[in-house]
Amino acid sequence: MIILYVIVAAVVLILIIVIIQTVITSHRRIVTPFKQPVDENLETAEKLSKAIQYRTESFNNLARINRDEYRRFHEFLNTSFPLVHEQLERRELSDFSVLYRWEGTNTELEPALLMAHWDVVPVPEEEEAQWNEPPFSGAIKDGFIHGRGSLDDKISLISILQGVETLLAEGYRPGRTVYVAFGGDEEIGGLNGAANTVRYLEKEGIRLSWVLDEATVIIQGGLLGIERPIALIGISEKGQADIRVTASGDSGHASMPPKSTAAGVLAKAIWRIEKRPSRLTLTPLMKGFLESLAPCSKAVRLKTCSPRPHGPLPTVGLSPVIQYRIPSTGCVKPQGGKILQSRFSGVNIPAIPYPLHRWKAMGSD
Ligand SMILES: [Zn+2]
Repeated sequence: MIILYVIVAAVVLILIIVIIQTVITSHRRIVTPFKQPVDENLETAEKLSKAIQYRTESFNNLARINRDEYRRFHEFLNTSFPLVHEQLERRELSDFSVLYRWEGTNTELEPALLMAHWDVVPVPEEEEAQWNEPPFSGAIKDGFIHGRGSLDDKISLISILQGVETLLAEGYRPGRTVYVAFGGDEEIGGLNGAANTVRYLEKEGIRLSWVLDEATVIIQGGLLGIERPIALIGISEKGQADIRVTASGDSGHASMPPKSTAAGVLAKAIWRIEKRPSRLTLTPLMKGFLESLAPCSKAVRLKTCSPRPHGPLPTVGLSPVIQYRIPSTGCVKPQGGKILQSRFSGVNIPAIPYPLHRWKAMGSD
């Protein structure tokens, strides 16, 4: 009889594991940007394709940034959008920030700001061969525009300019003044780009009614079990803190090592950091996001029916796309592509970037 109970228990256990696995894997399917072929003859497609061909890569080491290429890119914009160039006031605030001003008819209204950035994440030479089309080809093929920046973020930049250009051609003037700010260092933090623009606006006493910056894409492919395309609108952004962990030890010789070394201490610290990710906690923004999706997703309905909707959130069944939006995330990141640059007596340490929620101080979990 006992053996029978054991067998039944084992079968039930296996069933539970299979069900949990199925739930997890069904929500971890790859979520891809929604693909809608473009009209290849569209003038804007052509302009985006050309924009991609400028290698406007940004590097943490500012000296590596090709500023001549940046200048060539701006000349390309000036000639591609002649009405914008003629009719909007254009101000180069730095090599990394350009601000346009489109005067509105009603000076009583606070101005609005549209933003985008022209810099892109570098493509290491050894990775270029992995691309279906060369990353800076801007190839238009089978209804798609290929290349670095086609999504992030030259598409926004070209779309904004094309929109303004079209409206100018129609003789349109906005009610409120519209500013358009482009940055050239967003991928490395924006300190000389967006931050510069903010300093300028502050200095001029310009208060904005609203700002529209790049956000995320329309995605498709089973996010939280939702098959239809979902447009994710970014209304908040994580901050980031880089934490440098340092350990030091006694000098010595490898033939007579001390019991514990700086490298060992550091390894333990890194291990502990990795083992203690932040708990998933529903903030009001995330709760609103999940509630909007709930009517379309059984998975979301299950999650938001948790007895403690503001408390820690169970992770089972949540896709990584969602999981990483909720908590503060941490990542141990070696410097210079090496895990550790160590000497026996001390260790130079990898930095640990910590994207932070604005409303949550680090370490509050
Ligand atoms: Zn971007």
